[in-house]
Amino acid sequence: MSTSYFMKRQFCLACKSEKHKKIYSCQFSKPPIKEYLESFYIPQGRIEFEYLGDSEFILNECNYCGLIYQEEIPNDFLMRKIYEEWIDPVKSYEAQQNTIIEDYLSYSQEVLMLIAYFNMIPSQLKFLDFGMGWGIWCQIAKVMGCESYGTELSETRIEHAKSNGIKVISWEELPNHDFHFINTGQVFEHIAEPLDTLSYLKKTLKPEGLLKISVPNGAGIKKKLKISDWTAPKSSRNSLNAVAPLEHINCFTYNSIITMANIAGFEQVKIPLSIQYLYAIHGKSLMQVLKNVLKPVYRNIFNKGTYIFLRKKIKC
Ligand SMILES: [Zn+2]
Repeated sequence: MSTSYFMKRQFCLACKSEKHKKIYSCQFSKPPIKEYLESFYIPQGRIEFEYLGDSEFILNECNYCGLIYQEEIPNDFLMRKIYEEWIDPVKSYEAQQNTIIEDYLSYSQEVLMLIAYFNMIPSQLKFLDFGMGWGIWCQIAKVMGCESYGTELSETRIEHAKSNGIKVISWEELPNHDFHFINTGQVFEHIAEPLDTLSYLKKTLKPEGLLKISVPNGAGIKKKLKISDWTAPKSSRNSLNAVAPLEHINCFTYNSIITMANIAGFEQVKIPLSIQYLYAIHGKSLMQVLKNVLKPVYRNIFNKGTYIFLRKKIKC
């Protein structure tokens, strides 16, 4: 096929550095990536290899911030095809319904923690879920009494969220708002221009506002690429989910998020443990409860996680 549905990223879009090294490459239509894509997309809907042509899954590592990024990424047409057609909206909604209890618990805990952090009446708080998906996080923030907004590209998900009373706004409308909190959960790994997006979102944040970035943790991914077990299930020891071809086009670590945030004019905020623990203890098993107890300590002390709160840097 002569038409290409890909764009090339010649430099790191988290820090704009051009210096990088290639750490992995394989055509999308050749093993092991071909098999990975089939096993990933067919259960969710379908895959059409004719749109991938002879494009390559190339991973570059930025010399400056350490981001590992895919060089050839789907253009808008292919991106829409992947998220709206290859991933069948009906199947995606059903899958989301099956895991909903755990999601509800962690989202509720997060929204309650934020209300406690701002120490304000919920109705005075204005929250945005950037890339809201099916709008569950927005719904929870709304139920808790906060003014709740969402953005999303998928038309199916937008319609669903609207039918649940969520205020959906477009990218262009964002600067008309000022939010106390912007949630980006599992979004920045998918974005073509992460630094520019973060800088744009900064304009829509109140001076005292917070922005959360939560992405898959890419720590140790180079070791996993050497093992190259593309059949390893998500969350398993050797999983390559953090660099999932076509979708997880940016693979962050703690350091690369902090470097990007710093360039965009943000600094990290460590929410006090006393606030994190107010609503943190839940879980369907003792192990889960234990994990939830340890998570805030891990986040605040070790500087390794990729669940990070940011605020605008205070100008002296
Ligand atoms: Zn970089």
